[in-house]
Amino acid sequence: MPKRTALPADLPRVDCHHEPENTRCACGCALKRISEKLDYTPGVFTVECHIRGKWTCA
Ligand SMILES: [Zn+2]
Repeated sequence: MPKRTALPADLPRVDCHHEPENTRCACGCALKRISEKLDYTPGVFTVECHIRGKWTCA
């Protein structure tokens, strides 16, 4: 993959949050969000930040 140069800071930012619709575990407990593990995928023309929450069973 070619190395990307830094994106201009004045580009519009579009945050795309991808969260599960159901945060209830199959076992019946409530899933806990792991906030440290985020996928960060900046786009090219506008800065599109894809943020996928990771959820785990307690
Ligand atoms: Zn569970």
